[in-house]
Amino acid sequence: MENKKEKIVIANWKMKLSLKETVELAKKMKSKFTGFKKGTVVVCPNFVSLAEVGKAIKGSPVKLGGQSVFWEELGAYTGEISANMLAEAGCEYVIVGHSERREYMLENYEMIHKKLKSVLNMDKLTPIVCIGENMNERKTDRRDFVLTHQLQQALGGISFLKNQEVIIAYEPIWAIGSGVAIEPAEAEYAHKIVKLTLNDLFGPQVAANNFRIVYGGSISSKNVKGFTDLENTDGLLVGGASLDAEEFYKVAKAMIK
Ligand code: PEP
Repeated sequence: MENKKEKIVIANWKMKLSLKETVELAKKMKSKFTGFKKGTVVVCPNFVSLAEVGKAIKGSPVKLGGQSVFWEELGAYTGEISANMLAEAGCEYVIVGHSERREYMLENYEMIHKKLKSVLNMDKLTPIVCIGENMNERKTDRRDFVLTHQLQQALGGISFLKNQEVIIAYEPIWAIGSGVAIEPAEAEYAHKIVKLTLNDLFGPQVAANNFRIVYGGSISSKNVKGFTDLENTDGLLVGGASLDAEEFYKVAKAMIK
């Protein structure tokens, strides 16, 4: 079956660039993507760069996203930032539960669930929820269970307003930053598991209308071709290759045809 969903390509700049470097990259993205009419292109800079990047990409189709979010709206939560604050800074998207946060900040799926719920309640941002197995889980054949369980924990009991969208990013942890993406057929298989789980959780209509499923893990202009025409792959989350405007543009152009 042909995949007719609008494709999305998301750049995750992590904590890799200074403010100056981030704004320079954002300006290059603006000039690359001006006139790019199809699909959705999102860049996620660090928090302190959001406002400046917002200004730098203004007038281009590139949209702004945060790399994380807290689940409360306001209050004594030192170091945290809410969905409303991200929206005030110009964000339209936010990554929730990236594997690096699961590893270094000990975020778990109970927290990811609270974050997702608050993002949807505030109704100003589209969440990009990350799931994915680690190498040990893969080696012991637990991937399918892990993905289903993570989705149940993150999304169980969530209800949607009619037009709300959630992006599910399948990122096998062991492929992130490794330089080697998984085989497209394996990503597609994992996305099928995601789709079946979403069907179980929300019914086929919500699963089809309110979700897009993207792959993340060492995508570059060299391997993107294998991911562009898959039935259950609606886009890509890109780390390393998004730090170069020309390279990211090549990935986006291949994916969003
Ligand atoms: C990521 O961090 O989400 C990611 C996909 O990184 P990379 O493309 O560098 O593997």
